[in-house]
Amino acid sequence: MSIKYIPEPFRIKAVEPLRMLTREEREQKIKTANYNLFLLAGEDCYIDLLTDSGTNAMSQEQWAGVMKGDEAYAGASSYYKLVKAGQDIFDYDYIQPVHQGRAGEKVLFPLFLSKGQFAISNMFFDTTRAHVELAGARAIDCVIEEAKDPSKRVKFKGNMDVVKLEKIINEHGAANIGLVVMTVTNNSAGGQPVSIKNIRETAEICHKYQIPFHIDAARYAENAYFIQRDEPEFNNVPIKDIIREMFSHAQTFTMSAKKDAIVNMGGLIGIKDGQSDLVLKVKANCISFEGFFTYGGLAGRDLEALAIGLYEGIDENYLKYRIGQMEYLASRLDDAGIAYQSPVGGHGVFVDAKAMFPAIPYHQFPGQVLAIELYKEAGIRTCDIGSYMLGNNPDTKQQLQADFEFTRLAIPRRVYTQAHIDIMADALIAIKQRANTITTGYTITWEPPILRHFQAHLAPVKNKE
Ligand SMILES: *Cc1c(COP(=O)(O)O)cnc(C)c1O
Repeated sequence: MSIKYIPEPFRIKAVEPLRMLTREEREQKIKTANYNLFLLAGEDCYIDLLTDSGTNAMSQEQWAGVMKGDEAYAGASSYYKLVKAGQDIFDYDYIQPVHQGRAGEKVLFPLFLSKGQFAISNMFFDTTRAHVELAGARAIDCVIEEAKDPSKRVKFKGNMDVVKLEKIINEHGAANIGLVVMTVTNNSAGGQPVSIKNIRETAEICHKYQIPFHIDAARYAENAYFIQRDEPEFNNVPIKDIIREMFSHAQTFTMSAKKDAIVNMGGLIGIKDGQSDLVLKVKANCISFEGFFTYGGLAGRDLEALAIGLYEGIDENYLKYRIGQMEYLASRLDDAGIAYQSPVGGHGVFVDAKAMFPAIPYHQFPGQVLAIELYKEAGIRTCDIGSYMLGNNPDTKQQLQADFEFTRLAIPRRVYTQAHIDIMADALIAIKQRANTITTGYTITWEPPILRHFQAHLAPVKNKE
């Protein structure tokens, strides 16, 4: 029995029509896109779950803010409003807008990382890993073992393995670890939350070895909601206080505001100590890469919408509805015996494609197979979070095997209704019913050297005669 859907705490004011292609048309479109869903036109997707990033619906207050955005090149009032919101929510001295999360990484990471060094994270998101590597360093994932078993229902499955963390630090030498990064929620492990207890323990280790502790904060509000719900110490603590506690243990953060800040474009860098030299270096890098530090690659209207969205994203009623959508979809999959990273995380359902297609090896990309099937089945666009996304070893160029082979149904914020969620569940159930007939996957026919999944071309592997 699926659980009750938590009704939207809003109603719809502006509508955007959807277009539904026929199955034949979809089969043609995906072939023309070289079986890469990033190369499909958005309007050819009936339900677009490629990402929850920048696909959010803004509120009437945010749209009103867009009109009021101050477009002054330097010192716009929208900039001050954003800085004030950031300081209030995170309790950090210095708040730097940037145009999106990876821009923050590009500005900040070279100040901590160089050739021969390492960065360790509970799990690196793909662009974050790329920026570690672009800075010349190597990225090491250090998530708890439980996260690697999708069927194992444990709380705070996104946590850092703190025992392993200390081991890795000792192996490479503390001086060679440029940064420890806590990703909240742990996107690559399925939007799984990290507990305050784990943040405290990780911070303690960083302190002991004098390694800077950084938060990759894209889904900090969803993470705080899980802490409130599942970490007894925080059951009665307001979301904002939980957020302040989370961030109090780190020195810096980067954030893609395209997620929990409910905007279509934007990002932030935060530095706890406003007096540090780091602030000057960040400003200098920002001016080179992003624009003057009071706009950081964003228009005044974007700064304004972001300042408002930061507060809307931490509203408890909104978060309850938001996580409720995931739980509703997950409970429908439970009823149908479809495996996913469980318990369900904060921003989507990560279906276990390895369990759906046990015959397909990692180098034929089961997660990508299910993503293509979902598009053919119901015009739903999703993406692979598995070996296809992980790519090749940067040194040996060999295909890496990911811990998971997921297909991610990332749910945009405030966009889809219960009826849409039911279409997602129905499509997965239909594919599961014919899953045993799908025994081969895809091979890459062309790929760029880095972040290949966005651009690569694929072709179906032919059955051996
Ligand atoms: C989205 C994301 C990023 C990168 O942010 P962009 O805004 O897409 O550049 C970094 N880390 C995590 C965990 C993310 O989810």
